[in-house]
Amino acid sequence: MNGDVRREWFEKDYYQVLGVPKNASAADIKKAYRKLAQKHHPDANPGNKDAEEQFKEVSSAYDVLGDEEKRKQYDQVREMAASGFGGGGFAPGGWPGSAGQRVTVEGFPGDIGDIGDLFGGLFGGGGRRRGPSKGPDLETQVRISFEDAMSGTTVPIQIKGPATCETCHGSGAAPGTSPVTCPQCGGSGTVAMNQGPFSFSRPCPRCGGSGHVVETPCPTCHGTGSVRRTRKFSVKIPAGVRDGARIRVAGRGEQGPAGARPGDLFVLVHVAPHKLFGRKGSDLTLDVPLTYSEAVLGANVKVPTLNGPVTLKVPSGTQSGKTFRIRGKGAPKQRGGSGDLLVTVNVNVPSKPNKQERELLEQLQQSEGSPRRNLGVES
Ligand code: ZN
Repeated sequence: MNGDVRREWFEKDYYQVLGVPKNASAADIKKAYRKLAQKHHPDANPGNKDAEEQFKEVSSAYDVLGDEEKRKQYDQVREMAASGFGGGGFAPGGWPGSAGQRVTVEGFPGDIGDIGDLFGGLFGGGGRRRGPSKGPDLETQVRISFEDAMSGTTVPIQIKGPATCETCHGSGAAPGTSPVTCPQCGGSGTVAMNQGPFSFSRPCPRCGGSGHVVETPCPTCHGTGSVRRTRKFSVKIPAGVRDGARIRVAGRGEQGPAGARPGDLFVLVHVAPHKLFGRKGSDLTLDVPLTYSEAVLGANVKVPTLNGPVTLKVPSGTQSGKTFRIRGKGAPKQRGGSGDLLVTVNVNVPSKPNKQERELLEQLQQSEGSPRRNLGVES
């Protein structure tokens, strides 16, 4: 029975091809086939490519529907496919590896979309994929300056380890050759078993579920699709990145089994602290000292920002510890725009006033009332 369950079964409605209802009798199917085969037969349509194609379709439809056993399997497969393979069909992790088998290949260049679409559809867009679909993810770390984090930058990355073979681009097949449809499962990646309603859910042992096998292994990687080497490339770090952010770089991870897509690379970003600015989300923070007289009388104070100094108007009677918000002078936000700069002013108390200051302060003191009268211990 192996080889009967073909990928085509997922894709083609043979009943439609023959123009018969799903519950058509064997005799009706035979009749419909004869009529169509006659109509599209190459002898009756010399040089007509369309007819030739249709003749082939009709033949392969009858090949399945005309055989009672095959038709039963086909119906099962279609039914399961329609129900999204719910429960027990393709168990996650249930695909055996290809150890001891010939090299298995899935998603080799040119076919990945095909397979992705097919299974994306069958599984309702879920994450389940057949066979060795993706290599392991990797993580690396980079350290960047605060300024680079604010403006965005590119960082050089160097990674040693299994990488996509450059000779075969990861397919595992020798240049000039391609992985071929697995002869055991006919490319479906599944083979039928004879027990129970889930009988066809078994992955093909020959190709490991990929539907493809390599006949002539790539000489560089010996069919594995990957070689150990050092890869160097650069990764773009977006403006406004936060300390501890993980940036996913699709396809820059490790090469998996032959034919698999490489995994992803995660870049963990460490941002060095700034000597002046702190950070709260997309806002930056800054502490600015004021003199007592500035706080009391008010002042125009120059404060630094990421893009040059601005003047902060401190109103008279400003309390120490008050925070002012300067709009748009914070960190760049991921979706455009910037946070704010939060300036906290602190009244600076001179620890050693000079003689003149001391005299002025003593005069001031005499005119000041106590701020502690409401504590009830001073008059
Ligand atoms: Zn190779």
